[in-house]
Amino acid sequence: MPELPEIRAHAERLTADLAGITLARFEPLSFTALKTYAPPPESAHGHALRKVGARGKHLLLDVEAVTFVVHLMQGGRLRPDTSKTKRPRNGVARWHFADGRRLLLTEAGTERRAGVWVIAGDPLMQEPLAGLGPDADVVTVEQLTALLAEHSMRLHTFLRDQRVLAGIGRRLANEICHHARLSPFVGTRGMDEGQVAALHDAIATTIAEGLADERARADMSASKDRPAQVHSRTGEACPVCGDEVREITYNRYTVNYCATCQTGGRILADNALSRLGVDREDWGRGRQHG
Ligand SMILES: [Zn+2]
Repeated sequence: MPELPEIRAHAERLTADLAGITLARFEPLSFTALKTYAPPPESAHGHALRKVGARGKHLLLDVEAVTFVVHLMQGGRLRPDTSKTKRPRNGVARWHFADGRRLLLTEAGTERRAGVWVIAGDPLMQEPLAGLGPDADVVTVEQLTALLAEHSMRLHTFLRDQRVLAGIGRRLANEICHHARLSPFVGTRGMDEGQVAALHDAIATTIAEGLADERARADMSASKDRPAQVHSRTGEACPVCGDEVREITYNRYTVNYCATCQTGGRILADNALSRLGVDREDWGRGRQHG
């Protein structure tokens, strides 16, 4: 799933391409595309796109009269539409601009969860953005300390919960825990000051690296091309210590980690998670997990 670095760099790219161009027409291509009833998307027709912003994993198309909030979910992409067809493959929605250009939202796969919200007024104060935690790269160490105390969870779950911190999915959560040399299953209330400082630094560093990598690209990266030391690297050597990168699965979540760097050499077995106190509720609680 695209996370904060991919979304933010893509917002910058779209702004550079399309800012100032008048929106002629918004066209939903699937009946699940539009998540709101009012205001109607037609109220944006004839208005210029001011810019494309980002909040957590959402893109915000600011079209003077309204904002289109777009969530790409797992397989969604928002790209210039070069197809000539009325019904593009995997099409979810399309924006037609007055200069003839079009922007197409597609979603690969069968989940059909990507969508568009049309918002009047301040989009940050309304669903789906109102309940989000602060964007992960702007939290101060003091804010992070308070959030950790407030939400008793395993660290990996905490990082991926969009209502706590916005913009982090599975890749960044794996990378952040590894960078901070913390177990993905450490309890958020069991961390000392040094560990919180390491976590704060890991969040900032990992997101900055992702953003630099993403800004150097002409289009949003595929997940396999994003920088990773442990994420999806099961069986490969940890670039820090040379130990083997491990994976552990709980329900449908796969977590990658290095035992030497993160768990004092302890190898976590799937059936040992219950002994660690990682229960179904803990893993199922977060909304919008990535
Ligand atoms: Zn290591």
